[in-house]
Amino acid sequence: MTSFAELTSPQVADLLTGPRTPVLLLPVGAVEPHGPHAPLGTDELISAGMCTRAAERLATDRELRVLVLPALNYGVTDMGAHFPGAVSIGADTLRALVLDICRALKDDGLHRIIVVNNHFEPAHVTALRAAVTEAGVAYLDLLRRANVTRLTDEFRSGSCHAGQYETSLILADRPGLVDRDVMRELPDVHVDMPAAMSASAGRADFVELGMDRAYCGSPAGATAAEGESTFDTLTDLLVELIREVGHG
Ligand SMILES: [Zn+2]
Repeated sequence: MTSFAELTSPQVADLLTGPRTPVLLLPVGAVEPHGPHAPLGTDELISAGMCTRAAERLATDRELRVLVLPALNYGVTDMGAHFPGAVSIGADTLRALVLDICRALKDDGLHRIIVVNNHFEPAHVTALRAAVTEAGVAYLDLLRRANVTRLTDEFRSGSCHAGQYETSLILADRPGLVDRDVMRELPDVHVDMPAAMSASAGRADFVELGMDRAYCGSPAGATAAEGESTFDTLTDLLVELIREVGHG
């Protein structure tokens, strides 16, 4: 069993006295338009997919007990506000929510927590970084150069919102949620999101960036096989951090 919310209260008490060190993963996403072809919950599906894989990979580990917390599936998503389906919360709300969740777990004696995020809007990432620093928990930072270099060409290019990278991950886990007829017809849209966002101090929305259908990159090239391979890499990155946190 790898889902924290499926445990009973006495089973949580046992975690604290058992031989394996508990490490908890908090998947974070957003409810955000992902092109005309991919689901609003794309980022959370990616976070949850890699957390579940990491927990399963370590299921028989003798020293660590990895559990996945209920996902935090709301984030700061102002850049997509122009499109139907964007459900944004404030940066302060996000920060407070992450802080409260971590504090409650720590009060229970569960100190080893990793926040796993796949929504990279600058205001969202800044709020998460502030929360994890304040809470004294770990953050898997996929935007760190050492991690970025291990991901796909499209991810490295920064032109990757609902493109080949993200759409492939959804095809790997939830193919029924991708409208493949629409996906195949989508032309490439090249937007260097990190550069454009820093030039606008993070204030530009998708339309201003040239993403008039709420995506960039090459969604037509997405495949489930690429998604599985990316999930393997994301899981490697997470398992490395879990071992660090678990043994730290
Ligand atoms: Zn996304």
